[in-house]
Amino acid sequence: MEPTTVKGRFAPSPSGRMHLGNLFSALLAWLSVRSAGGRLVLRVEDLDPVRCQPAHAWQLMEDLEWLGLDWDEGGDVPSYWQSSRGARYAAAFARLEEQGLVYPCFCTRLQRLNEAPHVHDVSPACPCAALTPEEVARRAQERPPSWRVRVPRKSVSFTDGCQGPYTQDLARECGDFPVRRWDGAWAYQLAVVVDDAEMGITQVVRGRDLLSSTPRQLWLYEALGLKAPSFYHVPLLLAPGGRRLAKRDADLDMGALRRRYTPQQLLGLLAHLAGQQADPSPVAAAQLAEDFSWEKVPRQDITVDPGLLA
Ligand code: GLU
Repeated sequence: MEPTTVKGRFAPSPSGRMHLGNLFSALLAWLSVRSAGGRLVLRVEDLDPVRCQPAHAWQLMEDLEWLGLDWDEGGDVPSYWQSSRGARYAAAFARLEEQGLVYPCFCTRLQRLNEAPHVHDVSPACPCAALTPEEVARRAQERPPSWRVRVPRKSVSFTDGCQGPYTQDLARECGDFPVRRWDGAWAYQLAVVVDDAEMGITQVVRGRDLLSSTPRQLWLYEALGLKAPSFYHVPLLLAPGGRRLAKRDADLDMGALRRRYTPQQLLGLLAHLAGQQADPSPVAAAQLAEDFSWEKVPRQDITVDPGLLA
């Protein structure tokens, strides 16, 4: 039975100031939930202690509020920050381990770059999957391993709410993937599944760059006995020339955008890019939610016309 209440989420990584592309995904996540009378979670994805800083998280919350995009759960609540959720990831890791799905990997990044393509032609596994317990014990004295999950030889298919049907052969196109880094940091793929399931998320709206991660995540849901949400992978915004917008595009980050536009002007522009209005005229978030339709959202990535931002 379909759940009656839609629950979505913002899941930003606080590694810098948000830019137009992050806002575009955030707006669609918000509209999809608010137009259905659902609830929104703001989860801070700060797994990487080197790249992520709390100051960026506070800033992005303030930027979302400025735009009028609100949430119902999470935000400044510490248990919604991935850095504080290690015990949950460890429990899921243990469940995978009990099923014999996890193995230690001693490869350096360089070795994997050099060897993995050949290995993957014949097998999805890293050579470390075949180490004996004695070899594992010996090598663990030299350096701490990272941890991979053994993927099955199977195709995973699902229908994306924005991109349509999508299929991936896990073994061939992805291979055994890391769930924990050598330094103990939990991998995004594991954390996002554990969190979305525990937070009762029914709908994931995020950038199209994560479409190819979704079969891996769907398989993890299955292996962990968890219920998967539905997915909507939205187009990416591209700079003129076809390059993906990045945090280094300082002229399109929130600092610059807030100096140039009012919240309603910026929402008008984003709504126009999202196919929700014919022109970029100023609009309020609540008004957009009233007429929101996934049908009108483009599938293809969108090159932002500099004239639009002038
Ligand atoms: N934290 C990821 C990002 O900021 C998004 C992950 C997700 O939506 O699943 O790119």
